[in-house]
Amino acid sequence: MEAGLAVDGGLFVPETFPKFQIKDFDGCVSLAQVATRLLTPFFEGDRLAPQLRDICESAFDFPVPLKSLARKTAVLELFHGPTAAFKDVGARFLAECLSRLKAPEQMILVATSGDTGGAVAAAFHRKPGVRVVILFPKDGVSDRQRRQLTCWGDNIEAFAVLGTFDDCQRLVKSALADESLRVPLNLRAANSINIGRLLPQMAYYATASLEYFREHGVEPAFAVPSGNVGNASAALWAKRVGLPIRRVALATNANAAVPNYFAGGEWAPQASISTLANAMDVGNPSNMERVFDLYANDRAQLSRDALSLSVTDDEIRQCIREGESRWNSIWCPHTATAVRLREQQSSDEWILVATAHPAKFESIVEPLIGRPVPVPPALAAILNKPGSSEELPTDFSTFRGRLSHKITS
Ligand SMILES: *Cc1c(COP(=O)(O)O)cnc(C)c1O
Repeated sequence: MEAGLAVDGGLFVPETFPKFQIKDFDGCVSLAQVATRLLTPFFEGDRLAPQLRDICESAFDFPVPLKSLARKTAVLELFHGPTAAFKDVGARFLAECLSRLKAPEQMILVATSGDTGGAVAAAFHRKPGVRVVILFPKDGVSDRQRRQLTCWGDNIEAFAVLGTFDDCQRLVKSALADESLRVPLNLRAANSINIGRLLPQMAYYATASLEYFREHGVEPAFAVPSGNVGNASAALWAKRVGLPIRRVALATNANAAVPNYFAGGEWAPQASISTLANAMDVGNPSNMERVFDLYANDRAQLSRDALSLSVTDDEIRQCIREGESRWNSIWCPHTATAVRLREQQSSDEWILVATAHPAKFESIVEPLIGRPVPVPPALAAILNKPGSSEELPTDFSTFRGRLSHKITS
């Protein structure tokens, strides 16, 4: 788990995948119970192994409900955590692991375009032995996302970078490459390619597929809103270890590198395009490396297990507009891509993965449905706190100065 936070470019993948039978999960119902059973083999030999049950129970203390909709479709709501998006699951698990390691004080750097930084901040707030520094593009996040990044105080500090998300990422990379900072501050990165975040994401696919299978006796497919393809990788890993998952469908926005590959093209990353589903604006999804590894480049098998579809902004709008009449639901722009994908499939059993609460994206959703979206209590609590952040120019030397200031403090 410590190595999961490593600094280098390569992505960690499990060396081998355990094989489960459905009966191995008999008696496991809650997310924490299923997660403990599922992750035990991955923690074998790790010094956190004896604490895995506690870690799962502390990290997964919010509901992850599977709700039935019409037309052989259910929705898995991953947005009931503190920041109302699925990234809470991985961030909380990582925080529980790290805070139990009793390592020397660590400083976690996060460059964020929105949801990741808020989830990491919420998860690590007031955890002893860890400081978090968040860099976000000052003009690149929504008002509600900004509040989730800046409202914490204590061991969480936020910088509003006068540039783009790429500038934020560059500053983090430069800091991690600077030994005179990295060593004394014990710097770590926490981004979406962290294996400490991907493993726990397998757990909700396990919980939901088992629940569906026990009730209906058929394996559901999952429709996953995808950007950097971490969430969909976790679904494919869950299928690989033997959970009752028929297929995994990767719904993207107009950033279409993944669907183009599934349509038979070469793997061709692109520059990212801005869309209504901004947490999925990834032109070069780095977790595709993990998918290629999992399938050892066997495209035929990958196509049997998975499919992909690109959804335009117009289709996202239409899906949100029709959400209440067709599905009795209000969709966030990300979830809408999965809904559109499902609407184009046959009537087999599907689980839609709802990655964020629509109230997080009220400026997009409310004009389309013509009324306010009620704000869930956890999100309201954050939105009511005052925020603070320091502006930061994009040159490394200023950021370097801010960080070196903390070495003695
Ligand atoms: C991050 C995010 C996604 C994309 O997830 P990946 O693991 O990067 O594919 C989708 N929806 C929301 C709301 C997100 O925050």
